[in-house]
Amino acid sequence: MSRIRGKDTAPELIVRRLLHAMGYRFRLHVSHLPGRPDVVLPKYRTIVFVHGCFWHRHSCAAAYMPKTRPSFWQAKFDSNVGRDRRHRRALVSAGWKVIVVWECQTSGEVLTRLARRLKRLLDGASEARLALRRAKLGGCGSTW
Ligand code: ZN
Repeated sequence: MSRIRGKDTAPELIVRRLLHAMGYRFRLHVSHLPGRPDVVLPKYRTIVFVHGCFWHRHSCAAAYMPKTRPSFWQAKFDSNVGRDRRHRRALVSAGWKVIVVWECQTSGEVLTRLARRLKRLLDGASEARLALRRAKLGGCGSTW
C-alpha cells in the first residue's frame, strides 16, 4: 500500500525508536529488496515490516470490513495480502528472516511485549548465523 501508506508512519517510527533504543542498527526502505522493507537489519539478516492492521488484514478488530462496497474492499484486501505473501516468500527464499509487526502491537501497553519478542527473534537470528559460520569453519565452535 505504498500509495496510501506514508513512508514514515507513526507505528513504524515507534518500532524504529524501539530497535534503536535496544541497540540494534538498521537500514530503512531498502528499495532493491522485495516489498521495499521498512526496516532491514543486515547484521541479523532480518527484515521487519510494520503493517497497518486494516490494510494488511491483521486478525484483530482493526481489520474490519467496511459496510459499503464490500466486493471492492475484498478485492483490495486480497491484493494486499497476496502481495505481502509474495514479498515474504521471496525474502525468505533469499535467506532473510522476516518479522511482521502489526500496528496494534505498537501502542503503549503492549510495547514491552513487542520489545521482548523482537529481542528474542533478533538474538535468535544472530545465534543461528554464528552457528552456521562455525559449522562452515568445520570447527568445534572455536573461531581461532
Ligand atoms: Zn492488529
